Amino acid sequence: MKFQIEHRSYSLKYQCCYFCQRDFERKEAAIILCNERGETCGEACPNCIDKGYTWMQNQCHTTKLVGNRFA
Ligand SMILES: [Zn+2]
Repeated sequence: MKFQIEHRSYSLKYQCCYFCQRDFERKEAAIILCNERGETCGEACPNCIDKGYTWMQNQCHTTKLVGNRFA
């Protein structure tokens, strides 16, 4: 999982956070989450960004583990 900061103007003002699933108000800059293929997976809200990149990386790993639990 990669994180990139994007400066874009969206018509959509509210986004759903990838991590906490809460709607948050978008600012001019947003943290976009991309997978290894460069596809956009979602966005992180300011609360989750405040927790830091390490926390977000750990969340991604947790998600992956849960997803593969029965594989
Ligand atoms: Zn969040």
